[in-house]
Amino acid sequence: MSKQGILTVVSGFSGSGKGTIMKRLLEKYPQNYALSVSATTRAPRPGEEEGREYFFKSVECFEQMIKDDALLEYARYVNNYYGTPKDYVLGQMAQGKDVILEIEIQGALKIKQKYPDTVLLFVTPPSFAELEKRLVGRGTETPEVIRDRLRRAGEESLGVENYDYLVINDELEACVDQVHAILQNEHTKVSRKIDFINDFKLQLEQYAKGEN
Ligand code: ADP
Ligand code: 5GP
Repeated sequence: MSKQGILTVVSGFSGSGKGTIMKRLLEKYPQNYALSVSATTRAPRPGEEEGREYFFKSVECFEQMIKDDALLEYARYVNNYYGTPKDYVLGQMAQGKDVILEIEIQGALKIKQKYPDTVLLFVTPPSFAELEKRLVGRGTETPEVIRDRLRRAGEESLGVENYDYLVINDELEACVDQVHAILQNEHTKVSRKIDFINDFKLQLEQYAKGEN
């Protein structure tokens, strides 16, 4: 019986630790998950590599991808485009991998509309003070961009109720294990086991008719 992977969207305020959690989750459980790599028009941060963190695109190239319908969703976030390449995500799910998209809230809601089985997970740090500390401590954005991102966090906080799970990223390893547990539990939901249970029912029916 073919097993379709689960689509999960992870969102959270910039600096909450989404990237760090996803990196660790994939290190710990490489067989379970595939992380979608997005396209963006923002400039690479020091240490980021083309095709690993993002596919870095010009605005013209990104707009061509929109025209070609090559993106599952896209959004603008603090003056840049971000979008999810379609082929990779659908291909990995068909192969049974749980695919994780680390995207902001507008994109998350678009994905949920298109694919209602999607699990939406929101990550926060334990406090606002810690959020600011992490964003400043990362040292990758100018003070103006940090201000824009904290303002945007205020807007994103209004949409958190649309999510299925809220995970507080205090101690990293505990948080990674919690995310893994949530996603593994999702596999046991009856609604995701319909093919299995229908097959079982058929065999029981045949048994009752004396066909076995
Ligand atoms: P995001 O992807 O959500 O923008 P990052 O993963 O880049 O956030 O994390 C922001 C900063 O916070 C990084 O410097 C990272 O090392 C740090 N960080 C992430 N998780 C934790 C944690 N549990 N405790 C302390 N610092 C953390
Ligand atoms: P960053 O610049 O910090 O890497 O990402 C900024 C925001 O864009 C984050 O909230 C991140 O989750 C989001 N993001 C990254 N890729 C995508 C994408 O493909 N689509 C959407 N909608 N948001 C994305």
